[in-house]
Amino acid sequence: EDILVEVRNIKKYFPIKGGVLQKTVGQLKAVDDVSFSIKKGETLGIVGESGSGKSTLGRVLIRLLEPTDGQLIFDNKDITTLRQRLIRPIREDMQMVFQDPFASLNSKMSVEQLIEEPLLVQGNLAKKDRKQKVLAVLQKVGLRKDDLQKYPHEFSGGQRQRISIARALVLNPKFVICDEPVSALDVSIQAQVLNLMKDLQEDLGLTYLFIAHDLSVVKHISDRVAVMYLGRFAEIAPKRSLYDNPLHPYTQALLSSIPVIDLSGEQARGKEKIKLSGDLPSPASPPSGCTFRTRCPKAHDRCTIDRPELIEIDEGHFVACHLYDRS
Ligand code: SF4
Ligand code: MG
Repeated sequence: EDILVEVRNIKKYFPIKGGVLQKTVGQLKAVDDVSFSIKKGETLGIVGESGSGKSTLGRVLIRLLEPTDGQLIFDNKDITTLRQRLIRPIREDMQMVFQDPFASLNSKMSVEQLIEEPLLVQGNLAKKDRKQKVLAVLQKVGLRKDDLQKYPHEFSGGQRQRISIARALVLNPKFVICDEPVSALDVSIQAQVLNLMKDLQEDLGLTYLFIAHDLSVVKHISDRVAVMYLGRFAEIAPKRSLYDNPLHPYTQALLSSIPVIDLSGEQARGKEKIKLSGDLPSPASPPSGCTFRTRCPKAHDRCTIDRPELIEIDEGHFVACHLYDRS
């Protein structure tokens, strides 16, 4: 198998400061022992509520944040502890597209400057070669040549996200982390941007990690989907298996709340809506045992004591829940 990204037991803890002296009084386990791999050309969707650790995981993967523990392999290289100077050329192969294109685009720069900027940082291209690359990627994302002299505020949200995508792609990356790239857009525009990203993936042979907060968005684009809860994977499975046969009570609840018509135009099954009680607990003080137990309709005694590990139930379909643990 052709694996591009491999993540082994990654943890990212943040110190919690308290008191007048601002001493470290605890740890916020934003990502707590997550492992997975992504094949070349594959899209792994990661779904979770805000506070589940999915964005932190994305940032750790491209070493925008240092992992607390674990190992990161990218393109057969161990990048876990590479120093920043050495990570720079590798990072050109790993790009990120963010949720809010307005916040992530400098409003004082023209589209041409915005797309050219990553090439300048890279540093070894002649002006005319840069211009050529900018034009090529501009067309790929569906913008026009006369857009080059315009500024971000002159565009709609969907168009701005196209500019962000162009910026991410101009360096010819292998791997793109998409952190809720369509969450801020109208539903009608979401489908356009998702389709564009899917086309670009096929065209350029890209590998995606696609982060979202609901299962309807990643359904269209993912090959496999992981559901994240309080820093851990509750379930990970091939797309069909996850949507047709969700095993974790959390996944079941998330799926039951998807609107009747999803983005792919498919009719959702007429399932009863499962309402989760309460909010996501603070990752600073997660419940003992199964961290989902405070909201789980199927919680039982063991769930308070033992933390469930991921076990494989079906081919490639893993779930962390005592209901499926026969041991
Ligand atoms: Fe619910 Fe227990 Fe399964 Fe956790 S381990 S999801 S609390 S049944
Ligand atoms: Mg986020």
